[in-house]
Amino acid sequence: MPAQDSRDEPHAPDRTGSDGEPGAPAPAARPHVVIVGAGFGGLQVARGLADAPVNVTLIDRHNYHCFQPLLYQVATATLSPADIAWPIRHILSRQANITMLMARAEGVDRARRELLTSEGPIRFDFLVLATGATHSYFGHPEWARFAPGLKDIEDATQLRRRILLAFERAEVASEPETRRRLLTFAIIGGGPTGVELAGSIAEISRHALAPDFKRVDPRTARILLIEAGERLLPALPERLSAHARERLEAMGVEVMTGRPVVDMGADHVTLEGGETIAAATKIWAAGVRASPAAEWLGVAPDRAGRCRVAPDLSVPGAPDIFVIGDTAAVTDSKGRPVPGIAPAAKQMGDHVAAVIAARLAGTAAPGFRYRHAGDLATIGRNAAVVKLGRIELTGFLGWMFWGVVHVYFLVGARNRITVAMSWLWNYLTYQRAARLITGDVEPAPAREIGPLSPPA
Ligand SMILES: Cc1cc2nc3c(=O)[nH]c(=O)nc-3n(C[C@H](O)[C@H](O)[C@H](O)COP(=O)(O)OP(=O)(O)OC[C@H]3O[C@@H](n4cnc5c(N)ncnc54)[C@H](O)[C@@H]3O)c2cc1C
Repeated sequence: MPAQDSRDEPHAPDRTGSDGEPGAPAPAARPHVVIVGAGFGGLQVARGLADAPVNVTLIDRHNYHCFQPLLYQVATATLSPADIAWPIRHILSRQANITMLMARAEGVDRARRELLTSEGPIRFDFLVLATGATHSYFGHPEWARFAPGLKDIEDATQLRRRILLAFERAEVASEPETRRRLLTFAIIGGGPTGVELAGSIAEISRHALAPDFKRVDPRTARILLIEAGERLLPALPERLSAHARERLEAMGVEVMTGRPVVDMGADHVTLEGGETIAAATKIWAAGVRASPAAEWLGVAPDRAGRCRVAPDLSVPGAPDIFVIGDTAAVTDSKGRPVPGIAPAAKQMGDHVAAVIAARLAGTAAPGFRYRHAGDLATIGRNAAVVKLGRIELTGFLGWMFWGVVHVYFLVGARNRITVAMSWLWNYLTYQRAARLITGDVEPAPAREIGPLSPPA
């Protein structure tokens, strides 16, 4: 696609749904709001501007909105990608003042008021950067190829492939040592994603796969949850962390806390103190780094790469540019950092939509105030930990609460129904329907393959 030169012809979507209201600006003269990122934050800004006298352009490198909290279930074959993702165009198709463009943001020209994208520059009157976060390997980018993380649908299907392929390779392996390495899964990072992945891999190996393999026993898979800090789920009270650990251990997960990873390769992971564990599959759930929005804007990021923002979430010195969600460094009323979670991104999205509407109406908007609803993580069947204010839930009750919340917040009736039905089916049968290894599969190294005679 040729680059769009917005200096000659400023980008102004034409589907503005002119309402002809007296005093309302003509559609072409309306301020142009450009939102980058159709995740939790960006989508919320777009929705919040539905009735504002603006033209909105929403830009994302993907054509879908992804419900990240359930990505681990795609990675572990419980759900299919389409169950947790929804086309952005469709979500916003009824909103008359919005245009969606699939493009990759690459920079911001503040002087020209242009967003620089893979498809050319786009002029803006207001810019909202909601581009989320990516993995951080704490100064070891070379670990990314050995221990992929989980951020989007591609990551999830790649992980699913690695996990399922490890069992297939073990089935044809000749040496017990090779099988052992292939059936060792090391999950690095004991936050909610690490806990959820470890629990889910334990379940798939103990239940769904166990009857289907004849040469190896998937129940012997070794699942390690490695955490550098002293406990799992540090955002939750100690009692709930301890409960999560107990439940995981009862499911056969080896929980290793206070054990930073210091090295890894294709077949191993080494912990501080020198212990090296042979593990073919490693998954990174340890650290995140904000998208490069601060770099695009030429402002100094914080340690996690996030952009520091003013109380109304605009960039200091650029009142018409806002940064929200995982990309923004925001503190709550007590000066504590606002966590990188979906409700926080959505609240910031609501806030920025209100600020833009207030500016256009010539009124003042209050500063952003974060309201923390609670923390929750699921461990496995009938097991979750939930903290809502003073209320703490565990076991079946916590698990049901976790399930209802996640189904409720999914986008689209179809996704809610298919996810609820898949969960019910899995619950009743212990099965995982989405056990597909997709893409070209390289043959296993010859040295690993044994004589393929029937099992004794
Ligand atoms: C595996 C996982 C599990 C999680 N579980 C939970 C949970 O249980 N509960 C919870 O509250 N939170 C959870 N989170 C965190 C939550 O998903 C994030 O805090 C939230 O998505 C942040 O919203 P956001 O709008 O800032 O970014 P995102 O939702 O990540 O959206 C960013 C969007 O920007 C787009 N984008 C990025 N860069 C560019 C670019 N250069 N050009 C164009 N588009 C771009 C992306 O494609 C994406 O659509 C989880 C996160 C992950 C990864």
